[in-house]
Amino acid sequence: MVHTAETGALRFSGRAFGVRPTVGAMRSLLACLLLASPALAAEPAAEARCLVEAYPDFLCRADATAVHRCDGAAIPWDDGREKDDWTRFTAPDLEDMFYERYPAADAWPPAPTTDPGRVRYEPLFELMYGATPEAVREKLVPVRWFGTTVRVTKVNGVAEKLRLVARDLEKLPARHRRFFVETAGTFAWRPIAGSPMRSLHSYAIAIDVGVKHSDYWRWVRGATTAAAPPPYRNQFPREVVDAFERHGFIWGGRWAHFDTMHFEYRPELLCARAR
Ligand SMILES: [Zn+2]
Repeated sequence: MVHTAETGALRFSGRAFGVRPTVGAMRSLLACLLLASPALAAEPAAEARCLVEAYPDFLCRADATAVHRCDGAAIPWDDGREKDDWTRFTAPDLEDMFYERYPAADAWPPAPTTDPGRVRYEPLFELMYGATPEAVREKLVPVRWFGTTVRVTKVNGVAEKLRLVARDLEKLPARHRRFFVETAGTFAWRPIAGSPMRSLHSYAIAIDVGVKHSDYWRWVRGATTAAAPPPYRNQFPREVVDAFERHGFIWGGRWAHFDTMHFEYRPELLCARAR
C-alpha cells in the first residue's frame, strides 16, 4: 500500500513540471517504490498467516521476516539458504514447510508428484507438543475410535478434532468402514524410516488406519530409494480422506512417497492448500 504522501511525491516528482528530478527527488521516488513492495512493507506471506491461524495458542503474529511466538520469541520465516531436496527436508525453515502446496480437495483421483507436508520445522512441533517422549506423553488424552480407544495430544485441540473426524466417518456407508475402524496406532516416538527426521507420530498428532487396505511406497517390491518412488497406488475412497481433511488432518496418500494409512494434524497446510 502506498501512503497518500508518497503518492503525492510520485505525482510531483519533477517530470510533470518539465524539470530534471533532483537527487533528493530521485531518492524519495526510490523510497516510495521500496515501500510499495509488499515484502519490504512488512507484509507476511499468506502461509505465515496460516501458521498463526492454525496454532493461535503458540503463534501470535507474523510479519515479512518472522512468525512471532506468543511468548515474544521470533522464529525466522526464511533462513536465506539455498537448499536441495534433502537439505530442505533435514534442515528446513518455516517457509520450507510450504515449498510444496497441498492439493485441492477435488484433486481426485490423487496423482501426486510431490510430498506436500513432508517438510517439517521440528522446533515448532517440539515447542507445541513436547521435545521428549515424556513431555508428549503428559499431554495425551483418550479418544474413542470405533470400539477401541486411541491416545492423541490435547494440544491445539487435536483430540477434539479427531473426535469430529470419527463423528463424520461414522456417517459413511458401511462399505467404507474397513478403511478406518481398525487403527495401527497414534503415538510412537520414532524417526521416519530411512531418515533422521522425526515422524509426526512422535508428537501424537498422527493416526494410521485401514492398514490392510493401504499402500505404502516402501512396501512396493524393488522400491528402495527415496529419490524415485514407485508408481502411485491407493485404495482409499475420497469420502474417508475428506472427513480427515475437513478437520485439519492431511493425508499421506497425497504424497508421491505414498503412505495411504497415514493422517496427521497440519491445519496450516489445509489453510494454504491449492484452491
Ligand atoms: Zn503414520
